Amino acid sequence: MRPRPPTFAKFRDVQAELDRAGAAIFRDPEGTESLVIRYPYSINYIHSYAEDSPFFLGLAEGRLRGSRCRRPKCRFVFATPRSHCMVCGAPTEWIDLPTVGRVHSWTTCHFGSEAFLKETPYNLAMVEFEGAGSLLLVRLKDAVESDLYVGMPVQAVFDPNPKYSVTDIWFVPRR
Ligand SMILES: [Zn+2]
Repeated sequence: MRPRPPTFAKFRDVQAELDRAGAAIFRDPEGTESLVIRYPYSINYIHSYAEDSPFFLGLAEGRLRGSRCRRPKCRFVFATPRSHCMVCGAPTEWIDLPTVGRVHSWTTCHFGSEAFLKETPYNLAMVEFEGAGSLLLVRLKDAVESDLYVGMPVQAVFDPNPKYSVTDIWFVPRR
């Protein structure tokens, strides 16, 4: 036997009770009572990185990979990998990017998705690399908002426990 869950007229009180005990009763303005439960739900989403696979395999090896246009007259370098050149449309090849760069622009995020809640507020930067024509969007750690500036030298850090995710890399101020 389980005692009847407590009844609330405000849904935020129902939510607080769900956090506490997993079940509550909501009474609406007409007096209808609804049993509300917490129902944990998860899925295993099977995702293929396909042509982007070398980028994520590289992060796990401590390598930052970009792509370079194969067309001899173009050779545009992308810091965010592209299977085909966005300038001329030719196929690209994989290259290693420098693991040091400079802040091109940045923002401090005071909201974030679930994966980043623990580190909010956090910094996102567009990092530029010597020889690359496009930028990489990454997190910038070990720096507070007032430390940051355009042109700031930064260096890559690779997660020692990689999860084949974009969060396997972040940047810190270059020392
Ligand atoms: Zn090209």
